[in-house]
Formats: sequence, structure tokens, C-alpha cells
Amino acid sequence: MSHPTPANSKPAANAASETVKPSNFLRQIIESDLEKGTYAQRRWAGTPGDAAHQATGQPDPAKIRTRFPPEPNGYLHIGHAKSICINFGLARDYGGVCHLRFDDTNPEKEDLEYVNTIQNSVRWLGFDWNGSPTAPPYQASDYFDFMYRAAEYLIEAGHAYVDEQTADQMRVNRGDFSKPGTDSPFRALSIEHHLTRFRQMRDGRLEDGSMVLRAKIDMASPNINLRDPAIYRIRRATHHATGDKWCIYPMYTFAHPIEDALEQITHSLCTLEFEDQRPFYDWLLARLIDGGLLAGPAPRQYEFARLNLTYVITSKRKLAQLVYDQKVNGWDDPRMPTIVGLRRRGYTPESLQLFADRIGVTKSDSWIDYSTLEGCLRETLDGSATRAMAVLDPIKLVLTNWDEVMGADVQDECTAPIHPHHPELGTRTFSIGKAVWIERSDYEETPPKGFFRLFPGNKVRLKYGHVIECTGANKDADGNVTEVLATLIPDTKSGTPGSDSVKVKGVITWVGVADALDAEVRLYDRLFLDPQPDAGGKDFIEALNPNSLKVVQAKIEPSLGRARADQKFQFERHGYFVADGVDHTTKKPVFNFSVGLKDSWGK
Ligand code: ATP
Ligand code: MG
Repeated sequence: MSHPTPANSKPAANAASETVKPSNFLRQIIESDLEKGTYAQRRWAGTPGDAAHQATGQPDPAKIRTRFPPEPNGYLHIGHAKSICINFGLARDYGGVCHLRFDDTNPEKEDLEYVNTIQNSVRWLGFDWNGSPTAPPYQASDYFDFMYRAAEYLIEAGHAYVDEQTADQMRVNRGDFSKPGTDSPFRALSIEHHLTRFRQMRDGRLEDGSMVLRAKIDMASPNINLRDPAIYRIRRATHHATGDKWCIYPMYTFAHPIEDALEQITHSLCTLEFEDQRPFYDWLLARLIDGGLLAGPAPRQYEFARLNLTYVITSKRKLAQLVYDQKVNGWDDPRMPTIVGLRRRGYTPESLQLFADRIGVTKSDSWIDYSTLEGCLRETLDGSATRAMAVLDPIKLVLTNWDEVMGADVQDECTAPIHPHHPELGTRTFSIGKAVWIERSDYEETPPKGFFRLFPGNKVRLKYGHVIECTGANKDADGNVTEVLATLIPDTKSGTPGSDSVKVKGVITWVGVADALDAEVRLYDRLFLDPQPDAGGKDFIEALNPNSLKVVQAKIEPSLGRARADQKFQFERHGYFVADGVDHTTKKPVFNFSVGLKDSWGK
């Protein structure tokens, strides 16, 4: 793993308490711009807009502007969480504002369902956008009129033309890395011709795909992205925001820089695959600022490495396939790396913040180990999660001398702290009686070496209860253990004087048969068996872990009967669990496994 772990990092209940943030190249760039006053002269009219609009505004109170620009074509995932924490975090740390902008220039794949869930996910992570908790998000489709105007301006200035070559001809004439491209025969036609053609494109008088508007740059450029990139295409598609108003749509590479400039973005941060697009980004904005359409100084694009996490897929398209092929139970399945899935798994905003801080920002691609993410969850839950006992694979243990020692039908009350490091939270109570539920695996007729739990003749403590001595087990006709038998050793109850006079090597968790509640517990494991399930074009479906979900009927202590949906617990000995945000009710409790107590991934 090549991510830097800051020397001053420590387990923190709240990521924000890691106050000294390690520097990174983005912070250095921003600090340098602030020092030089690169963006100090910008004006802001309160809303996005062109040069004339912004000129009516005040000096921008936001020292920097960043943006998070998802395409509303799927649910956000852990990679987006990194980008959100970077963009919103930098704006917060440097007196700026971060914009949430829907990059909705591709009508076929986009949907309002996604627009809504994306906003919820950003809020849940702890951020609000566009400078106020009530501001609506921006959307690229609001800028379609301006983009159209910018395109006409480029044509008029001799910087764009309508190309009527077929897609195949265009591909061939683009050349490749070793061969320069060839000019389209349409390139040299008159400005009037191109303007007329472009208006016909807009007016719906031409077939989808029959022609495109291209920037006129250089067909011999060593950067293929500068060989007259397409900037507008004809596509008869209903847009979720603009309906059927348009039958032409701008290409992403054209739309994105314009969106940034209209919003007065200063630092436009994206992942490394956009590095080769930067020259076009700069080319386009320089021309539109020169032409007086957009206010300068132009935003600058900076690239950082995308998040690659082992055992995890971070492609919306592939995640969608898992959902539509029903390999998982929806976008919010707790095995999914979507923000809604992570949340249902028990991840907290603090844990994802801590993760983003810990992996840092770099300029080179690397793989982050899944255990880093889990470690962040464990650290943030340890200080806050309520403790409880649960038996996940229950078998009955009968205390055969209970009636003599304690009295028939007696229930003895036990107490335990709600949180061992927070005595102020108080205690929980539950009762022990003649029969208790224990884990099936806590009994062995013939103990393997190093086994200190129940076997005939051995003594253990029932946690928060008494010391007992195992005497054997009852079995069915097939030899399966049906009940474990033990005797209670008097005067050994935890917390009573002399209770530790009998020394034991093993302590086991349990719940009383009399007051235990039933619960469904969903035990999740990694979704894929291959650490890089989709690397090199592999079929990730083949790497699915067939045992990624196991549902068990557990016995839980009575205090868990008050659990609220989304509440986090540590089931002692077992790990962290969360009351399921969708299916859990106090009548029918459902818990999801979040993360174990220790890292078990290295083994
Ligand atoms: P996908 O490939 O999953 O569709 P995308 O990059 O197309 O993802 P967008 O909605 O366009 O998704 O992304 C919004 C922002 O999130 C972009 O700025 C993008 O760079 C960033 N982003 C997406 N995936 C990651 C990732 N794995 N790591 C870091 N940032 C990411
Ligand atoms: Mg994308």
C-alpha cells in the first residue's frame, strides 16, 4: 500500500478532531493561489452566469470555489466519497464554497431518482453546497442556452465547424498516436455555411448522428484530444430537466469547462483520466474569455488519483449490473460500496471522512487495502457503539444445580456497562436463570489444544455472571449435541465480594433463555473473492463470493429490544453491528454485521 499515513494520526471518535491535516499538492496549490491573489479580483453576482452577469456582482466572498459534479446516472460510491471529502473539505478549510452540480448533459442515462439520492448522500456525509444549507444544487442543463450561444460564437470566430463526415470517416481521419489526422473536407467551408448548418441541427431538421459540431484546432496535434474534438451532437432524447426543448446536446468535454467558468470555480479537481483533456479545457476557456462571454480568470483543472480499493468495484455501470442482475438486493445492499450501502452496513460519515483523510490525495494511482476502510469504521465506532451481548449460533446450556443453589424459578439480575469507557452512560441489566443460550462453538467434547471454553471438567465465567463448570452434554440419536450441561459455582457472581476466588481461563458471552429476544442477524462478508475483481477487463461476476451473506436467527439480550434503526452496537466478542435501516423494528429486530473487532483481512 502506498498511501501515506500521517504521523500524527490517532484513533479518533470524530475525524474532525484530527485537526492537523497533512498537506498535499492540492493544498499547496490553493495556498499559493491565495498568497498570490490569483482569484482575488473575481466578482460573484450570487448565481452562476456569464461575464456580463458576474460583472454586476460584488467581489466574491468565497476565497475559492470547488465543485463536485456527478452525472446523475447512478448511486454515489466510495470513490465519490473521496472526491466529496476533497472538494467540500478544501472549500471548508480555505474559506471557500463547494458547488454540487449535476452534470446532466447525457439525457439517455440520467434520472431524477439519482438526482435525489445523490443530494441525500452528500448531506449525510455532512456537507451542504452552494454556500447555504437550503440552496438547490446547480445543474449543467441550466446552462444549455449559454452553451449554445458559446458554440455559435466559436463558429463565428472561426473556431468551430459542422462536420458531415460519417462516424467511420471521422475515426479514420483522426489518425492515431503515430499518425497525424487529416482535415475533414467540411472544415474549410464558410462560417455562414457552418452557422446555418448548426442552426438546422438545433431546429431538428437533421438526423441523429448525421453531423456534429467540432472545435477547429489542429488535426496534427500530438494530443489526440486536440484533433478537432466534437462539441455538439444531435440526439433526440427527452431530458429529465429540459424535456424535449433540445435535440442537440453538448459533449462533456465542451460542457464541463463552461460549467466551471459560469460558476466561477477556481480549482476544478478531477481524476487523472482527464489529464489529456486539460489542454482543450484551457483552449476553450481562453477563447470564450477573450470573446467576452465568460468572466476571467479561468478556472484551472488539477487531477488526482482515483480511489482503487481492493475487493471493491467503483464503476457506476458495473454496480448497476450487480443491481439489475440481482446479484445483490438493490443499490443499498450492505455489501455494496455505494454510500447508501455503506450506510446500511453501519458506516458513519465520520468513518468515511477519516478514511478520506487517511488515504490522502496523490497524483499516482495505487490500490488501497480494504482493511484501511474497515479500520476507520472500527476506530470511529469503538468510542461510541453501545455494548450488548448476542448469541449468533445458539445452543442451550442448562445449569443442573440451579434449583438447589439459587432456588427453582429464580432469575438473578446481572449488570453490565453500556460502554466500558463511558460510565456516565450507565448500565444495562439482564437476568440469568437455569438455562442460558451460548454459542454452539463454545462447547467441545474433546477440546483441541489451547481451547479454554466449555468441555467436561472445565470452568469458565459467564460474562457479567457466575463461574460454571461444564459436566457434559445431552445428544440426540445421531450424536449431535442438543444441550450443554454445567453446574453453577456459588458465590462467584461478577461484582460480588470474593467472586474472583475461582480462577478461570475462559469467559463466554451468553443471554438468558428467560429474557432473550429473537433477532435476525445478517452476516456479511466481502462481495468478491478476487482483490481486483474487474482489473484488466476481467469478468467481475465470476469473482462474486457465493457466501457473502449468511442470515442467522440469533438470541439477543433484552436491552437490544430498544434498538433504533441505524443504531450501532458492539456485540461483545463478535464485532460491530447496526440495526438495519430498512427492515429493523423493535418487534422484529434485524441487525447487520458491520466490521469485526480486529482486522482479519491480513490472515
Ligand atoms: P463512474 O465511472 O463510476 O461512472 P464517474 O467518474 O463517471 O464514475 P461522475 O458522476 O462523473 O462519475 O463523478 C463525479 C466525480 O467523482 C468526478 O469528479 C469524478 O472524478 C469523481 N470520482 C468518481 N469515481 C471516483 C473514484 N473512484 N475516486 C475518486 N474520485 C472519483
Ligand atoms: Mg463519468
